[in-house]
Amino acid sequence: MGVRCCAVVAPLPLRPIGKDAAALARNVGWVRSEGDTWDITTSVGSTALFVATARALEAQKPEPLAVDPYAELFCRAVGGRWADVLDGKDPDHELKSDEWGQYFVNFQGARTRYFDAYFRRAADAGVRQVVILAAGLDSRAYRLAWPGATTVFELDRPQVLDFKREVLTSLGAQPRAERREIAVDLRDDWPQALRDNGFDAAKPSAWIAEGLLIYLPAAAQEQLFTGIDTLAGPGSHVAVEDGGVMDPDEYAARVEQERAALAEDAQQRPFFQLVYNERCAPAAEWFGRRGWTAAGTPLADYFRQVGRPVPEPDTEAGPMIARNTLVSALKA
Ligand code: SAM
Repeated sequence: MGVRCCAVVAPLPLRPIGKDAAALARNVGWVRSEGDTWDITTSVGSTALFVATARALEAQKPEPLAVDPYAELFCRAVGGRWADVLDGKDPDHELKSDEWGQYFVNFQGARTRYFDAYFRRAADAGVRQVVILAAGLDSRAYRLAWPGATTVFELDRPQVLDFKREVLTSLGAQPRAERREIAVDLRDDWPQALRDNGFDAAKPSAWIAEGLLIYLPAAAQEQLFTGIDTLAGPGSHVAVEDGGVMDPDEYAARVEQERAALAEDAQQRPFFQLVYNERCAPAAEWFGRRGWTAAGTPLADYFRQVGRPVPEPDTEAGPMIARNTLVSALKA
């Protein structure tokens, strides 16, 4: 079941949110449940903004692993601390901490670079259908040089896609492929929604599940993988950010610690309460058993490849980096 988290309960890395009063009020009651919903500043939706903030910080470095110029624009559209941290006005922001923030920013830069290269390989191999599951503020439809006749399907909850569209439209941004939004919950019948929007299962496709699996219960992960396997024709590609689960006692302690901290300070936003800490199977094994040729690169190995420091296992960031694997697979 992947690498287990350390037994030490370190201080909570709580994620600050913007200054929207309504969002702050909703923050207090954030607990996952079947059919729960969110927008870009609440619950799971705010995680899209959080990883975009990390991408924007990575892009500010002299030698970034990846540059996503749209990430900064999304943060500025929301404003408050999301923008302040980019302007150096929020030195206490957790993304600026040496113990955790710098590694998380490296993580987002590394995974962006890895998955960008994955999509380039798929496009070079002739794939013209791209499916971005839980697209959030992923800007690849606008950033990458897609070959002509490529369609990028972006799936996420309606209000997340609404925010993204409103920001990009107001900026006059143009996608570099045909982009189709599919407003759907990935716990529902998303394969049908994809077909209804013109996805052709007879043609090869390239899929990504980046920053998603931890927000789905194991049964929904299994359904997600099964949906991909069913719709992916020969010559298809899949890429997954695959996180191992935390030790259950450690996870439960983190959730309790977080609840107590949130009761004290509603300005904070939770993380541990948003994740399920479940895993249906390691992605490389799951797809490998179904005839895909799958390869997993432990995130720590990828950090070494791209010249970023790997945190020691017993540090605050160590378990996070050790738990994650970047997976890509090809269906013959
Ligand atoms: N893939 C994007 C990236 O890496 O920038 C976004 C990752 S963000 C951490 C998680 C995203 O998953 C959010 O945009 C959220 O709305 C989406 N998400 C999580 N669970 C979902 C569900 N059940 N249905 C639709 N979208 C979901």
